[in-house]
Amino acid sequence: MADHAYDYDLFVIGGGSGGVRAARIAAGHGAKVALAEEYRMGGTCVIRGCVPKKFMVYASDYGRKIEEAQKYGWDVSVGAFDFKSFMANLHAEVDRLSGIYMSGQVNAGVDVFEERAEFVDAHTLKLVKSGKTVTADKILIAVGGTPWRPDPEELPGVEHTITSDGVFQLTELPKHIVIAGGGYIACEFAHVFAGLGVETCLVYRGETVLNGFDMDVRTVVHEGLKEAGVRVITNTVFESIEKREGETPLHLKLTNGMTLDADVIMMAVGRRPNINGLGLEHAGVQVGEREEITVDEQSRTNVEHIWAVGDATRRVELTPVALREGHAFADSEFGGHPRTFEHDMIATAVFTQPEVGTVGLVEREARKKFGAVDIYKTRFRPMKNMLNGKSERVFMKLIVRQSDDVVVGAHIVSPDAGEMIQMLGIAVKAGVTKAQFDETCAVHPTIAEEIVTMRTKS
Ligand code: NDP
Repeated sequence: MADHAYDYDLFVIGGGSGGVRAARIAAGHGAKVALAEEYRMGGTCVIRGCVPKKFMVYASDYGRKIEEAQKYGWDVSVGAFDFKSFMANLHAEVDRLSGIYMSGQVNAGVDVFEERAEFVDAHTLKLVKSGKTVTADKILIAVGGTPWRPDPEELPGVEHTITSDGVFQLTELPKHIVIAGGGYIACEFAHVFAGLGVETCLVYRGETVLNGFDMDVRTVVHEGLKEAGVRVITNTVFESIEKREGETPLHLKLTNGMTLDADVIMMAVGRRPNINGLGLEHAGVQVGEREEITVDEQSRTNVEHIWAVGDATRRVELTPVALREGHAFADSEFGGHPRTFEHDMIATAVFTQPEVGTVGLVEREARKKFGAVDIYKTRFRPMKNMLNGKSERVFMKLIVRQSDDVVVGAHIVSPDAGEMIQMLGIAVKAGVTKAQFDETCAVHPTIAEEIVTMRTKS
C-alpha cells in the first residue's frame, strides 16, 4: 500500500511500548511499516523499567515474607540472598521478553532496523549504523525518555553516580546506598534496597515525598519509608560527590552541611524525553519548555505527517498510556477508525512496600474543581499483621463530589494496592456514586472490603 514516492507508509522511531504497539497495529491494517530501535526491543518498560523493577520489588518482598512467616509457625532459617543468581534470572527473563517483542514485529510484517534513526528531513531518516537512508509517508516518534542528572558544573562528582538504568547493571548488592529524589523511582528503589538489607538513605529536596499525589498518601508513604528502615533526609540536595579509597568510597556533601558515605549513589531526580541528536530541527518538529514533543489530542505534532506518543510527549509517562496512544494513532491513520485516548482517570500504582494505588483527583484538586467534596478515609492494621507482629497499617480514601455523590478520587496504600486500584479504576472511570459503593457487599475477610464499608465522613 506504500505510496510509490516513499519506501514505507509508516516509519516508527523507537521499539518501546508505544512504538511497538503502533507498528504492529498499523501493519495489521495493511500498511508497509518499518521500525528502528537503537538499543533493545521492549524499551524502558521491558529492559530497564517496570518489568525488571517489579522483579526487584518481588525479590525484596520475599525477605519480608520469610521474616513474617515465623510468627505463622514456620521454622525458617533465613538464607542469604544471592544477588548474582537473582540478577541472572532477571536478565534471562528480560531477554526472553525482548525476544517476544522482536518476533511480534517480524510476525506482523514490520521491517525492524536494529540501529539508531535520525531525521534528515521531514520525510527522510538516516540509519546511523548502516548509513542507509529511508523515506516514509508518515512518521511516528516513540523514543521514550531517559534519566536526567545535573551537569558536573552543577553537581561536581555526578559522574560517580548511577541512575535507574545503572541499577540493572549492578553486579553486586551495595552495602550503603544514597538515593536522590522523592518521586516514583526514588521511593520504589529505596524500598527495594532496604528490603534487600542495604543500608539506604533517601535525600529529598522537599518536605514529604511523592509530590503530586494526595497529601494523606504522601504522609503515609513518607512514614512507611522510615518504618522500612530507610533514613530519609529532607529539605536538602546534593552539593558535591568525591570518590576516595575504601569500602564506602563515595563521599557526599549535602547543601545543609551534612555528609554521607556510600558505595552507590543513585540519582532519581526525573526523566527527560530522549530527543538529543534526533534531528527534530531538520523535520521542523516543535518541542515545548519541558523538552516534550508537543502534540494535539490525535498525537500529531506541528508537522502534518509526523506524530509522537509515549514519554517523549510527557503527557502521562506510563507504559499503558503509551500503548493506548500508539494504538489509537495506528487505528486512526491506517484502520479507518479515528479515535483519541482520554488522559483522565488513569489508575496508577507506585510499587513501594506497601504499594500505592491511585485513580482520579487528589483532595486538593477536587476541592478546587468542585468546591464541596466529602472525604471518607480509614487507616487500620490488616488482619495478617495481628499475628506476625508487624505494626504496618493500610490507608484508604475516597473523595466524593457533594453535588451528585460521584466518587472522583480513590487512593490506597496497602499490600496489593496496584491490583485493587485496577479494579476500582473501572468503577471510578465509569462515574459510580458513593451510594453504589455502599450498596456493594463486602468480600470478607479482605483488606479491600474496607473500600465499601466506609460510612463516616472525615
Ligand atoms: P518524578 O518526576 O516522579 O520525581 C522526580 C523527583 O526528583 C521529585 O521528587 C523531584 O522533586 C526531584 N527533583 C527534580 N529535580 C531535582 C533536582 N534538580 N534536585 C533534586 N531533586 C530534584 O520522576 P521519576 O524519575 O521518579 O519518574 C519519572 C516518571 O516515570 C514518573 O513520573 C512516572 O510517570 C514514571 N514511572 C512510573 C512508575 C510506575 O508506574 N510505578 C515507576 C517509575 C516511573 P519535587 O518533588 O520537588 O519536584
